[in-house]
Amino acid sequence: MKLIFEQGGAGHCLSLLPECDVPVVRPSKVRAEKAPLPQVSETELVRHYRTLSKQVYGVNDGVYPLGSCTMKYNPKINEDMAALPGFTDVHPLQPDHTVQGCLGVLKEAETALCSITGMDRMTMQPAAGAHGEFTGLLLIKAYHRSRGDAARTKIIVPDSAHGTNPASAAMAGFTVVNIPSGPDGCVDVEALRKAVGPDTAGLMLTNPNTVGIFDKNILEITEIVHAAGGQCYYDGANLNAVMGVVRPGDMGFDVIHLNLHKTFSTPHGGGGPGSGPVGCKAHLAQFLPGPVVEAAGDGSLSLVQPEQSIGRVRTFQGNFLVAVRALCYLKTLGREGIPDASKHAVLNANYLMHLMKADYDMAYDVTCMHEFVMDLGHMKHETGVSAMDIAKGLLDLGIHPPTMYFPLIVHEALMVEPTETESKETLEEVAAIFHQLAVTAHTDPEALHNAPSKTPVSRLDEVAAARHPILRWS
Ligand SMILES: *Cc1c(COP(=O)(O)O)cnc(C)c1O
Repeated sequence: MKLIFEQGGAGHCLSLLPECDVPVVRPSKVRAEKAPLPQVSETELVRHYRTLSKQVYGVNDGVYPLGSCTMKYNPKINEDMAALPGFTDVHPLQPDHTVQGCLGVLKEAETALCSITGMDRMTMQPAAGAHGEFTGLLLIKAYHRSRGDAARTKIIVPDSAHGTNPASAAMAGFTVVNIPSGPDGCVDVEALRKAVGPDTAGLMLTNPNTVGIFDKNILEITEIVHAAGGQCYYDGANLNAVMGVVRPGDMGFDVIHLNLHKTFSTPHGGGGPGSGPVGCKAHLAQFLPGPVVEAAGDGSLSLVQPEQSIGRVRTFQGNFLVAVRALCYLKTLGREGIPDASKHAVLNANYLMHLMKADYDMAYDVTCMHEFVMDLGHMKHETGVSAMDIAKGLLDLGIHPPTMYFPLIVHEALMVEPTETESKETLEEVAAIFHQLAVTAHTDPEALHNAPSKTPVSRLDEVAAARHPILRWS
């Protein structure tokens, strides 16, 4: 398609008004020269954006089973609330007494999310999951330092972890120690026992883990780390399987981050804004990034710096409107709706896994949580069709592919997360499309090697797209 700069020209215009016939008074801050924008007519402009909108695929177009990303439908009421002028028109430097409502949103969201996670305090500052991990690790660092314990320099991360975990630990100045998973996809407890010691700062773990399995040894795992003097960090980016059902705080975790843009209803995938609040147990609260919202005896709210705060991790109170959406989501679902959403996410994943089993091998053939991992190694060996080919074939059939080649411990991995917002009928349609592709893999593998053929672009050079992106028109 043509860019807007390649369209229009002199005489194409949007203006319905006649030439101005009175002197124009230009405010001092207005730019001296006109911006170099193309002259286009209203028709050209509307068609341009309409065409652009058709180049992409989002949750509003259809099912988007991207494992570990929780691409669920986000109720529009949350958008309406986040667009209220009372929230959008405040200035972040207004005095506390003039923004009691906004501080109330932050406090209520903190309280609700603390009760869901089993934490005591929370900061809403971090702008995304990885940012939350970094923040949480700095809390762990500050905790050990405050006790004069400088020897704890290592963070233990299982090999099934999300890639951001070791990256965040390294960024926070720790050495990363990898431990293997057992054949059941869970942490190898004996390997963990050998890995901990006086140099252990902590463990980073997600449960259910990235293969969609709830680690049955979780209490033993956190106990081993605590006994060695370490802290336990819970990657709560994907809380969708457990919210309101089981609390990371009760599993023995000291710090957690959440991805409000995954689990708590902010559309994502287009690059932001996100929110990665970090919660902690009381013994870490004094280190939280400041300021945090505190309530006085009379109920009035103010922003207060925690005693030994690690400092700010983002301007003001983070992406505030994402917190508004999360609070609206929490309030509309309520105490019954929140665990219900998780139970349906788990039910949907298990139903879809069951429907797909006839055609695809499962990496771990057990009851899964909110997502499951298929292993296409066997299919590739038999037909030459890889996980990548199936993913590309899905694009031609109108659904977004699952996550590919992750987690790394499964080689031809496709990781499927249907979420609770898909109906039984949709899940059955998805299974039928996967079945069709499995048949094609055996009858016409070449067609899948060449897929997709119906999308605006075919296979991209993904490395070049990541390393040398062309982001500007020239
Ligand atoms: C998405 C995700 C993250 C990172 O979150 P971002 O907001 O993309 O930084 C971390 N851990 C897990 C398990 C995730 O799924």
